[in-house]
Amino acid sequence: MSNSNSSSNGTKQPALRVIPLGGLHEIGKNTCVFEFGDDIMLVDAGLAFPSDGMHGVNVVMPDTSYLKENQQRIRGMIVTHGHEDHIGGIAHHLKNFNIPVIHGPRLALSLLTGKMEEAGVMDRTVLKTIAPRDVVKVGQHFSVEFIRNTHSMADSFSLAITTPVGTVIFTGDFKFDHTPVDGEHFDLARMSHYGEQGVLCLFSDSTNAEVPGFCPPERSVFPNLDRHISQAEGRVIITTFASSIHRVSMILELAIKNGRKVGLLGRSMLNVIAKSRELGYMRAPDELFVPIKQIRDLPDRETLLLMTGSQGEPLAALSRISRGDHPQVQVKSSDTIIFSASPIPGNTISVVNTIDKLMMLGAKVVYGKGEGIHVSGHGCQEDHKLMLALTKPKFFVPVHGEHRMLVCHSKTAQSMGVPADNILIIDNGDVVELTADSIRRGDPVKAGIELLDASRNGIVDARVLKERQQLAEDGMITLLAAISTDGVMAAPPRVNLRGVVTTADARKLSIWAEREITWVLENRWKQLCRHTGGQAPDVDWVGVQREVELGLQRRLRRELQVEPLITCLVQPAPAGTPAYKGRTDAEPDSRPASRGRGGRPVDRQPRGERPERAPQPQRQLATVGATATASATASTAVATPASAAAPVAEPEIAGRTRRRRSAAVG
Ligand SMILES: [Zn+2]
Ligand SMILES: [Zn+2]
Repeated sequence: MSNSNSSSNGTKQPALRVIPLGGLHEIGKNTCVFEFGDDIMLVDAGLAFPSDGMHGVNVVMPDTSYLKENQQRIRGMIVTHGHEDHIGGIAHHLKNFNIPVIHGPRLALSLLTGKMEEAGVMDRTVLKTIAPRDVVKVGQHFSVEFIRNTHSMADSFSLAITTPVGTVIFTGDFKFDHTPVDGEHFDLARMSHYGEQGVLCLFSDSTNAEVPGFCPPERSVFPNLDRHISQAEGRVIITTFASSIHRVSMILELAIKNGRKVGLLGRSMLNVIAKSRELGYMRAPDELFVPIKQIRDLPDRETLLLMTGSQGEPLAALSRISRGDHPQVQVKSSDTIIFSASPIPGNTISVVNTIDKLMMLGAKVVYGKGEGIHVSGHGCQEDHKLMLALTKPKFFVPVHGEHRMLVCHSKTAQSMGVPADNILIIDNGDVVELTADSIRRGDPVKAGIELLDASRNGIVDARVLKERQQLAEDGMITLLAAISTDGVMAAPPRVNLRGVVTTADARKLSIWAEREITWVLENRWKQLCRHTGGQAPDVDWVGVQREVELGLQRRLRRELQVEPLITCLVQPAPAGTPAYKGRTDAEPDSRPASRGRGGRPVDRQPRGERPERAPQPQRQLATVGATATASATASTAVATPASAAAPVAEPEIAGRTRRRRSAAVG
């Protein structure tokens, strides 16, 4: 096969470009760009959840610089189904760029509407509901047919995307479930129709590419859940994904069958069930549901609580119950607690911790693969083979999966006769260029992640994340240095430790800090201080602070093997303030080091050499001349400044948080 998109006469054919910005080498934040000529069409825009160490990060979004730069070319978006990893990013992106129209299934758009209202971006797009087999046109070059598929979420679709170079099948999330809970069957006829016509390329869900066999049907969990519920002597507590509409439907059906009323806990559980019932995706009588405050009055034997927390999310209902800090529900030893979900990779530890806590409270906990109380919504190897058999693609790109899953899926495709040369394993930001007879990898576009805090407005950038990791692992050192505008240390530095485990005490650290300050004053002052002709020189206090921080950081890493976050605050004193002469007491440090104002620490790097560590971006911590707004943190961190001679400006630490937030909103 030809690996270039140049035809035999050498002229460059226009190519279809497919660019996943998320969803590859991971499960989550699926966001895919289709591009032909001047048209850009988006397929889904999801979010992912933070991994360990992403302190204070609420959600993870793909970097959308490429879309921001090309926003005038965006003609529309297609949504395959309503899972968070496919629609969770849309409201956020709409704050940055408009999307002329979003076509999607009713349930997904209904869930999306809620998110868009919350974000205040309803005017940034037009939502158009599609029905099975609807064909929509996006821009000049794309025409998309929605093909009903089966998945853990109701109202889910695969896409047949017809372009000038051929038809691409984009499976979306799928499994082949021939006995779907809602009776909506996979439209196999339509899929094979495209297979007959000729499919240029298949982009297929790889989540369960490592798992042999067919994925069991959703219905198969029904008898197992039924057994546990009917055998329960006390309350039944079940947790599952709120978005697993079919699972929730079965649980409600089982509650009725077993004579139990249902109490719902967790915002997403209440929200998804309300939306699904309203739109007819879930049928349950009103009287089945009892508000959580009243359900306590019913006998335990007639109670079923359905809640969020299947992933051990710290703020979800079941996690709070396991910690004993839920206002309405406490665990009883007669409770049967059922985990009808399996942990997403990365959540395993929090899930098993939650299970342990619930067991320690005396409850019977039902969980794990052997119980048959959970099946995946994603097809396994045999499902993948069936998809390949139906579509008979010329080219193949495995998507929606971690790297090993993509590799596994490509092997399945090869076993079905797709030549290895016709398969591309790509990463986020890679560009798949397709012509009628070729597939190749184009130059990648910018891709990466954007981390959002709980407000979903504040962006947690790499520096903030690094600082939080330092705080979490090694604590924080605050250092107050009184320095006069003529470059004299006016008082001994004050050092305060928070969460730092070290053999060095504050006094020792204070001596080290003194050395760093002395060194900076003697070796860097000229560069940091400009005489502009006025009375007082213009001092780069932020630069002074940064130099001291870097020096102390190096020393701590070397001497104590710790890397706490160091914040140096300079308290400027007026010129002429008497110099503090340095300590005369015994040096607790075993290293020989010169003292006082004459020398610099012997272990310091030679003058002029850059520090070994990449300097951090400037921290605008101290604002010279700022009004006194020191927060409680600052006042514990700094003791009384020694420079009593003149009014000195209070270091402004409270401004830091404000600055960060305002800088992040956009
Ligand atoms: Zn899904
Ligand atoms: Zn998905």
